Amino acid sequence: MNRPYNFSAGPAAIPEEVLATAASEMLDWHGSGMSVMEMSHRGKEFISIYEEAEATIRELLAVPGQFKILFMQGGGLAENAIVPLNLSRGGRANFVVTGSWSQKSQKEAQKYCEVHIAASNASPAGHTSLPDPATWSLDAKASYTHICTNETIDGVEFQTLPDLKALGSDAPLVIDFSSHVASRPVDWSKVGLAFGGAQKNLGPAGLTMVVVREDLLGHAMAVCPSAFNYKTVADNESMFNTPPTYAIYIAGLTFQWLKRQSEAGLTGIAAMEHRNIAKARLLYEAIDGSQLYFNKVDAACRSRMNVPFFLRDERRNDAFLAGAKARGLLQLKGHKSVGGMRASIYNAMPLAGVQALVDYMREFETKQA
Ligand SMILES: *Cc1c(COP(=O)(O)O)cnc(C)c1O
Repeated sequence: MNRPYNFSAGPAAIPEEVLATAASEMLDWHGSGMSVMEMSHRGKEFISIYEEAEATIRELLAVPGQFKILFMQGGGLAENAIVPLNLSRGGRANFVVTGSWSQKSQKEAQKYCEVHIAASNASPAGHTSLPDPATWSLDAKASYTHICTNETIDGVEFQTLPDLKALGSDAPLVIDFSSHVASRPVDWSKVGLAFGGAQKNLGPAGLTMVVVREDLLGHAMAVCPSAFNYKTVADNESMFNTPPTYAIYIAGLTFQWLKRQSEAGLTGIAAMEHRNIAKARLLYEAIDGSQLYFNKVDAACRSRMNVPFFLRDERRNDAFLAGAKARGLLQLKGHKSVGGMRASIYNAMPLAGVQALVDYMREFETKQA
């Protein structure tokens, strides 16, 4: 079967090998006589799936021992409430607004704590740059500082994490890494908590991964729902309530797939990062080298995962999308708040998929000229 290339921003493409394994194990997982969907989350079969998934992503992302990895439900949007419920103590939190997602996060947090906007990149052109951390006004009383490290809609990505300590702030850094988790390494020395919905780079929707430093557990507000209390979830190995078992299984297969990747003498996440750099370069060079397409984001903070671009003649948008679909290049329409096109090129998108897109873009431009 020749599958099309899926450029969806999320839920997004899953590696074909993962889907094939899941299909072959659908009716009978490893001789258990059960589909993973039918297993008790407390049975030895599922516990083994869970433990392997946790250990593999811990190894891949080099998560230090003093961090807990939690598999939760509710997605990134729920985390926008769960983080302040657990970390703010009803006090103040810093937010750096760099696009639609961090904007949503600070708005939701206002229900639970006092929000201080430490910096913003809002401009008439939209969210197209990153404010220099040296210029952030970090409130000394804030209990944490929230950033979105990859703005999925605007295509803005932090290429390095800010060092809050060097900026004179002891507040832990919270990162929403939903749309670039596992696409590059994470410098955990700068992070207190990271969260991400699985449906961009880790697996299916319904699973949220939270990586939290142990000393941040145990300070939840009294109103925090028990199932969303990080300490309760951590103390119960993510099984206080029934976790999203099938999504954890598919994520675990994806982690195994990630571990098998090798490229340029690198393996795992380093190999993935190498490939992601090559994919992004190929696409941005095609955009910048064309007369028809353009991207508005500052070169220094262009996302490797989500590439929004525009046609200079917007009347050609529908023809562009129809031609792409006919070529097996799916879901390229931009987010409604930004317009134009967006190619999401997560881990599961091979270089050949980006090459096919670039070839099509050149052909479409030449035909129109
Ligand atoms: C997709 C996404 C979310 C929201 O995820 P949901 O699962 O829909 O709640 C949050 N943050 C970022 C950066 C995202 O890309």
